[in-house]
Amino acid sequence: MNENDLVLPKPTPETFMRKAIRLAEQAAQDGEVPVGAVVVRAGRVIAQAHNQVERLKDGTAHAEMIALTMASAAVGDWRLNDCEMYVTKEPCAMCAGAMVNCRLGKLYFGCHDQRMGAAGGALTITDHPGMLHRVETIGGILADECLQTIQEFFRQRRREADSTDDFGA
Ligand SMILES: [Zn+2]
Repeated sequence: MNENDLVLPKPTPETFMRKAIRLAEQAAQDGEVPVGAVVVRAGRVIAQAHNQVERLKDGTAHAEMIALTMASAAVGDWRLNDCEMYVTKEPCAMCAGAMVNCRLGKLYFGCHDQRMGAAGGALTITDHPGMLHRVETIGGILADECLQTIQEFFRQRRREADSTDDFGA
């Protein structure tokens, strides 16, 4: 057997979700609500981002929005039909809408968000019958780890600031 026989294990959705979780952890270290996103095309990561709402003072600077913009730049097209996104939390209405507009091929998300989620949680935008594009969606990838990252962030923040915050962003 020579080195050409070595076959790397095929990446699974969990492989890419772990990358997204690491990005979420970076966000938490920066004081941002920990959400991370990666975009994959042909098995390769072409974009990765975490939430930067606080740093950029921009309520639209969600991980998914930044990752979509980066992915479009990498592909050289606004259409992302052959791309998959992995994001640690069910996307909000804004991000889900952006995924539809970018014709994202497939969405994998981590934990569900019954309050703000727009991929079947609070409402359904990614798979809305009247929409011009429907994003195939699989939720619950490493859901417990993704949820823990967010819960730990808010627990920590409550400890520090003794204030409550919502689950949003
Ligand atoms: Zn969002």
